[in-house]
Amino acid sequence: MKMAVRLVLLTFAICRLIVTVGFTVVPTELQSQLSVDNSEVEAASVDFGMLDKGEPLAVMHPGSADDIAQLVRAAYEGGFSVSARGHGHSINGQGLIKRGTKGVVIDMGSKKGVGGGPPAPSVCEKGMYVDVWGGELWINVLKATLQYGLAPMSWTDYLYLSVGGTLSNAGISGQAFHHGPQISNVHQLDVVTGKGEVLTCSEESNSELFHAVLGGLGQFGIITRARIALEPAPQRVRWIRVLYSNFAKFTKDQEYLISVEGNKERLDYIEGFVIVDEGLINNWRSSFFSPSNPVKISSLNKNADGGVLYCLEFTKNYHQHQADSIDQEIEALLIKLDFIPASVFTTDLPYVDFLDRVHKAELKLRSKGLWEVPHPWLNLFVPKSRIVDFDKGVFKGILGNKTSGPILIYPMNKDKWDQRNSVVTPEEDVFYLVAFLRSALDDEALEYLNDQNRRILEFCNDAEINAKQYLPHYTTQQEWMDHFGDRWDQFYSRKMQFDPRRILATGQRIFEFHP
Ligand code: FAD
Repeated sequence: MKMAVRLVLLTFAICRLIVTVGFTVVPTELQSQLSVDNSEVEAASVDFGMLDKGEPLAVMHPGSADDIAQLVRAAYEGGFSVSARGHGHSINGQGLIKRGTKGVVIDMGSKKGVGGGPPAPSVCEKGMYVDVWGGELWINVLKATLQYGLAPMSWTDYLYLSVGGTLSNAGISGQAFHHGPQISNVHQLDVVTGKGEVLTCSEESNSELFHAVLGGLGQFGIITRARIALEPAPQRVRWIRVLYSNFAKFTKDQEYLISVEGNKERLDYIEGFVIVDEGLINNWRSSFFSPSNPVKISSLNKNADGGVLYCLEFTKNYHQHQADSIDQEIEALLIKLDFIPASVFTTDLPYVDFLDRVHKAELKLRSKGLWEVPHPWLNLFVPKSRIVDFDKGVFKGILGNKTSGPILIYPMNKDKWDQRNSVVTPEEDVFYLVAFLRSALDDEALEYLNDQNRRILEFCNDAEINAKQYLPHYTTQQEWMDHFGDRWDQFYSRKMQFDPRRILATGQRIFEFHP
């Protein structure tokens, strides 16, 4: 859309703001925070997935929650939508303005707001929490809290994601089996609702809004501040990977490690991944294997059942003064596991380097031009009772030997997920995340991978696996109703309560925005 047309539409919106909030002059802060610059609008029209496009009228650089509230009030009256953009790392346009509709994107990560931008993280040592702006990146939260020897407990694999963005989904990684997802580790939020009110909410106060927003896909309000629980930060991490050719043994060990009994091993992180082709060994999630090892893995791969190998990975955090006992602890644990003998890969690194591990891989891919490419990712929660069927039908079936990216698989305990939050998970006590993190280097690959995703979903449907999409993407409301199942009525009534004009996060395509 040409800049002039955008300006006209934006002026219209701002005029409505004058009428709405009774200003005789548009507040100068708000005017100066809205940009219609082509390069900014262009950047806010796409996301990491590069599969969708939605051009906003303007991009806002807020300096505070009040700035956001003013814009949302204008939208409430003025007939345009508002999408908060964390770091734009969604796959299917979830943080964009829905294509073909009028709306403003709020760049939550912007440091350009009036007065130097939003507040920096503020740590309370005594209370063991940190207050952070909703657009803050997790890497900055980590850096700020480490200055006090503290750190959040639950993470994502990659830290260049925003707090508001991951809390709108769940925020999961190998710590979730023990600490729950990131949404289970939040004390309090400040939220701008779809009516433009700024509300503080927690379990004790405005609890309906609190639980609605956590895992709420941006539908009920914009998180401007989150109070996140902290623990003393460890200094180092012992990181182990072991290989399996037998899926039943692999899942048995993973499930043992996340069980109450396995918890006595005091592991801090448990994940795993599937190896269906050799290319995977050297991809961005697998840089850990030392250069001589791939030869060994490729020979194992040929002998594997159906050509598929499974890698279990776990870590144990420790402090320098515990260094002497860590080897023995790991050895005592390994004896209990049933992996392929001699397939143990070990490394030891500072805590920050472990948490920030994916960023290193990002830099490598960027330097080769392989980061900014389409990403037809698919993330599923698969119930424990059907994971063997999923293995047969998908890993050893639909995938063939071309996956174009890492496939993560790890189990989590449902009792660590607060059922009052908006995110939906399978019915069973234990369910697996299965994440197909693919990159499409050309149109043909994109078509192939999209088709594969469609077949995987079809397989789950036909075999009645009862999987749930994580970071879900649907195009019709009926599909969303099916996704939420008996939680849909609650989701819908929360929407009517907190964003009755359906102006927020239209890129999710859950509710139709009618200007
Ligand atoms: P965006 O994509 O910008 O926004 C996501 C949604 O949240 C949108 O609907 C948006 O409107 C809404 N939103 C954004 N900010 C706010 C706010 N302040 N208040 C209310 N709503 C808001 N996820 C995991 O759980 N675990 C992982 O290990 C993991 N690894 C990843 C690795 C990579 C390389 C990438 C690209 C993604 C990964 N993700 C992971 C997915 C990630 O959690 C989602 O993309 C999530 O949306 C966060 O990205 P973002 O901050 O860029 O949010």
